[in-house]
Amino acid sequence: MGNILIFADHQGGDLSSNAREALAFGGQLAKSTGVEVYAVLVGPKAKTGAKEAITYGARKAYIFENPLLANYSTDLYLEILCAVFQQSEADTLILPFDRKGKELTGRLATRLAASAITEVVNFKMEDGQIKWIRPIYGDKAYGEYKAIKRKVVVGIRPKSHNQPEPNEKNTGEIIPVDYVISKEMMLTELVKTIENSISGIRLEDAKIIVSGGRGLGGPEAFKELTDLADVLGGAVGASRAACDAGWVPSSLQVGQTGAIVAPDLYIAVGISGASQHLSGITNAKTVVAINNDDEAPIFKRANLGIIAEYSSVIPALTKELKKKLG
Ligand SMILES: Cc1cc2nc3c(=O)[nH]c(=O)nc-3n(C[C@H](O)[C@H](O)[C@H](O)COP(=O)(O)OP(=O)(O)OC[C@H]3O[C@@H](n4cnc5c(N)ncnc54)[C@H](O)[C@@H]3O)c2cc1C
Repeated sequence: MGNILIFADHQGGDLSSNAREALAFGGQLAKSTGVEVYAVLVGPKAKTGAKEAITYGARKAYIFENPLLANYSTDLYLEILCAVFQQSEADTLILPFDRKGKELTGRLATRLAASAITEVVNFKMEDGQIKWIRPIYGDKAYGEYKAIKRKVVVGIRPKSHNQPEPNEKNTGEIIPVDYVISKEMMLTELVKTIENSISGIRLEDAKIIVSGGRGLGGPEAFKELTDLADVLGGAVGASRAACDAGWVPSSLQVGQTGAIVAPDLYIAVGISGASQHLSGITNAKTVVAINNDDEAPIFKRANLGIIAEYSSVIPALTKELKKKLG
């Protein structure tokens, strides 16, 4: 097996938690296979991010900065990642299977004539071969996959591992990438950004999430959830049913086809607990369910359940917490 290249996404030089997780995953794989981990960082302040990637085990960090990358562009990232993958002579490209990863994984595999395996949560070595492990059937089972091609693009499911600790003593080489990009390579262009999250905290980073489902009966009740989330310093999430009904933006959707979250506290209000929703909260520490049906599947996952009409709980809870938390 050749070396491993990790797409280490960052914001202004700060690695994303998903990138740290991917670097740690790559490190474990490298240990089992005796190869090295490299990182690729794209966009403004990539060099700052590269220093951090080295503390998480990257032996080489390829950096690419260019004014055209002020905003994320799937087309340009695709170009650069393919170029760096070829330059690095790695044969495994790992990236977090988050919003960017979902756009990039299939495209990268096609361009690189590589196998693609998504939502990977673990790996094992069997007869000298890597078996990639990912949940299947809405997380009811795990499948083991092998890559048919020598080159493979692997999307890691976010929040499937604990956050690693950096090691400031690590050393590595930072390599500026020599590659030319142009506006003509962009097949789509961002023309406007519209703020649409209810609370200011990103779902993926929130320690507390108050999430609503179809049981809320309409968009108005999300105002009550927002009040509760504000008191707790948390974010508001939703089930796909609530998003599909247009009650809240789809960016709030938690689950298999939405955000994968790992908060300390997840309060599910009027959410039945379909397997596709539960896949998004596998690593939530404490789940509190509020539902008027005592047979709702969410109660099997919940650490604490309240069988009640949400309207008899949420405003009272918010009022009490306001008194206690100030
Ligand atoms: C391929 C695929 C991907 C999917 N991806 C996702 C995903 O990412 N995320 C996701 O969420 N879903 C996803 N789904 C949809 C999923 O299967 C469910 O349909 C959805 O999660 C149901 O949303 P819900 O729990 O809000 O609604 P429902 O299942 O209708 O549940 C509503 C709940 O509210 C309770 N309730 C009703 N009134 C009240 C009240 N007054 N007070 C308290 N409780 C009340 C009910 O008892 C019920 O349990 C996916 C489905 C497919 C096929």
